[in-house]
Amino acid sequence: MVNYWIIGVLAIASVFWAEIVRDFYHVASHYWPPLYKLHAWHHRVFRPNLTPVSDTIYKQAHWRHDVPEAATMMVFGLLLWAAAYFSIPSYHWGAAAGCVYTLSFLLSAIARGCGIKGADELTDITHQPGEFLTPPANWFVNKPYHWRHHFDNQNAYYCGTFTLIDKLMGTALSLKGKTVAVTGASGTLGRLLLKHLHKAGAKVIALTSKNEQVTLNLDGESLFVKTVTWQVGEEADLAELLEKVDILLVNHGINVHGDRSGEAIAKSYEINTFSAWRLMEIFFLTVRNNENIATKEVWVNTSEAEVIPAVSPLYELSKRALGDLVTLRRLDAPCIVRKLILGPFKSNLNPIGIMSPDWVAKQIVKQAKADNRNIIVTINPLTFILFPLKEFCVSLYFQIFSRKAVLEIKEVAEKSSVEAKIN
Ligand SMILES: [Zn+2]
Ligand SMILES: [Zn+2]
Repeated sequence: MVNYWIIGVLAIASVFWAEIVRDFYHVASHYWPPLYKLHAWHHRVFRPNLTPVSDTIYKQAHWRHDVPEAATMMVFGLLLWAAAYFSIPSYHWGAAAGCVYTLSFLLSAIARGCGIKGADELTDITHQPGEFLTPPANWFVNKPYHWRHHFDNQNAYYCGTFTLIDKLMGTALSLKGKTVAVTGASGTLGRLLLKHLHKAGAKVIALTSKNEQVTLNLDGESLFVKTVTWQVGEEADLAELLEKVDILLVNHGINVHGDRSGEAIAKSYEINTFSAWRLMEIFFLTVRNNENIATKEVWVNTSEAEVIPAVSPLYELSKRALGDLVTLRRLDAPCIVRKLILGPFKSNLNPIGIMSPDWVAKQIVKQAKADNRNIIVTINPLTFILFPLKEFCVSLYFQIFSRKAVLEIKEVAEKSSVEAKIN
């Protein structure tokens, strides 16, 4: 009796195998000069709007990169099939699936190389000109994801279909050369985030409510950071600056601890919830063209208080409200939105925090490079179970009981860009 489950699993595994070979062939093409010579044609062929610079180069790029890549996938696919044939003879047909899958890429690459009409539109979907309709996807490579490999950083975003290998290699997000603005930059975590973002190659901007120049201590050397002073309630004043910012990290907050006065309520919600939400909305309006959609991001520090008590009722209430607003708005966000779910770390606000803030900042940057949309850094194992569950359920509930607002964001953004030009 043939077990079809085993054949099915083997078939899926062989497709994954083909994709892993494809991704490593691509990585090797960037690191091994003889292969890069061939692969460079793939990078020469496209303009930023993804139209090919010439028909000849387009065809040559396929003969020099896509065809040998698919041929390599085929060789490794056949090896897997042969291994299955000798080790599990009754199920070896499952491994043939990867070869059939690869054959479709090999034939379509040949068709594009020959310049057969319509082959590119039908089979090369990550290189089609046109508007980006969504931000880069998380688990599958879509057009905005791959666009970054061509025009953001060629030494990142290697994956062709699944993003897993980029996630494992930390190349699913490149911070190199990106302008990153961090609010709450005078605080303990703010400074350390600036430091680790700087180390990852980002150009950092400190946004602080304090009237002081933010400096970083980099292995004993001081580094002056571009510092912009702003006040809660005056988020709109940052609109112009945010136009030039690739990643906005909303990190400011207040903890009134045991205070439950009316003033404490107002202050907690104003700073932790509404100020953060307003900044996120203003940032969305700066996302207008394909490049913005592919490269702009907002990271919001909503804290572990979204799901775990923080022994500070107003901190929890205001951070939970922010967390829910981010969940609601990111359903339609024009760019990537990440949440930072952080456990208690030692800081001026929280002297009894357990985790080292330097380690927390380092982990945040590391997880962002793995394209984690919810960056969880905590020592509480419960958060790793409760937060994803809560996020999934709340997001689903919001999706069912609220309407799409994509067009609204787009229209306002276009209007404000016209206003910006007039002014
Ligand atoms: Zn490409
Ligand atoms: Zn490449």
